[in-house]
Amino acid sequence: MIAEIAVDLDAIAHNAAALARLVAPAKLSAVIKANAYGHGLVPVARALAPHAARLCVYALEEAVELREAGITAPVHVLGPVPAGELDVAHAADVALTLWDRGLYARQVASVARRRRRRVAVHGKIDTGVARLGLRPADAPAALARYAATPELELAGAFTHLAAAEELDSSFTQEQLARFRAATGGLPAGVERHVAATAAAMLWPETRLDAVRCGIGLYGIWPSADSEALLRTGGLELEPALSWRTRVVALHAVEAGASVGYGRTWTAERPSLIATLPIGYAEGLPRSAGNSAQALVRGRRVPLVGRVCMDMSFLDLTGVPDAAVGDAVTLIGRDGGERITAEQLGTACGTIGYEIVARLPAHVPRVYSGAAGQPR
Ligand SMILES: *Cc1c(COP(=O)(O)O)cnc(C)c1O
Repeated sequence: MIAEIAVDLDAIAHNAAALARLVAPAKLSAVIKANAYGHGLVPVARALAPHAARLCVYALEEAVELREAGITAPVHVLGPVPAGELDVAHAADVALTLWDRGLYARQVASVARRRRRRVAVHGKIDTGVARLGLRPADAPAALARYAATPELELAGAFTHLAAAEELDSSFTQEQLARFRAATGGLPAGVERHVAATAAAMLWPETRLDAVRCGIGLYGIWPSADSEALLRTGGLELEPALSWRTRVVALHAVEAGASVGYGRTWTAERPSLIATLPIGYAEGLPRSAGNSAQALVRGRRVPLVGRVCMDMSFLDLTGVPDAAVGDAVTLIGRDGGERITAEQLGTACGTIGYEIVARLPAHVPRVYSGAAGQPR
């Protein structure tokens, strides 16, 4: 095996329980879009279902995969569902996101009428991301129209925050005020949800009826501000994913020798260079070259040279006993050291979210932990 992604489902269950306790009495919705942030959609959904009021996916295809796997938990599709796929959505019994002022809501209603069962919908309001959602000025009338349509069950109203990761931004309060103003006339029983992980942690006033947590479930902190909660004793999250490969070749190179495409790294002394069998096609960003680190025999070692499509290089000069076949940890623990997805993301000029979400689905995941085993 070239690389292995190991996922601890008990860590995910632990994180979900910890987040659910943190936000109670608000409910926890578990966001499992992007192949459960690279952790594997169906096994993660099974592990989370007992802890979450609802599972949130981005695309209808993900919801269908959950249903085909026998998962019966409530599912909310956050992203757009083309009108031509509304029959599939209805058959999968998922809640849809609505943000239009007319035609699409009527199409959803007409599919529900024909198929003789109401469709749950969540109205989305754009309070400042400029991505998806009703304008706040249009929201009260549109939400009232959804609520008055017999084929629709207005289950929720929600928005998404632009800058909740940072404690020093007042924009979160501004968005919350816009959301409250736009949803003030809704009947009780329509669930109001605003917060994703960062806001759920940092802005308690945004928890309202429910929160939609993704990244924290996987034991990844959305920002340094949020990670401070660990030190203040508020919250313990366990990283669930480890990513390992092996050394496939070793080269003793002279001082002055260059490594890899473009000759971006040159040995300053006689060096021991390891070839790794994974590159950017396997999810290791090209920007990791000459910047990220890995763990070998419990020691931190630098990635050197450019990451290739399917291979990359480590400088193992500091690990003279290294051998072909040695385990290389890109994310996870080795001995007393640990590399987190956030650290790898920072080294690559991105965030932990992007690192795990881009781990290719074709790399086998190896699961541990009792949570989520089919019963
Ligand atoms: C991805 C997403 C979330 C979860 O965000 P995290 O930061 O991973 O907790 C919540 N709501 C919406 C609309 C999203 O797209």
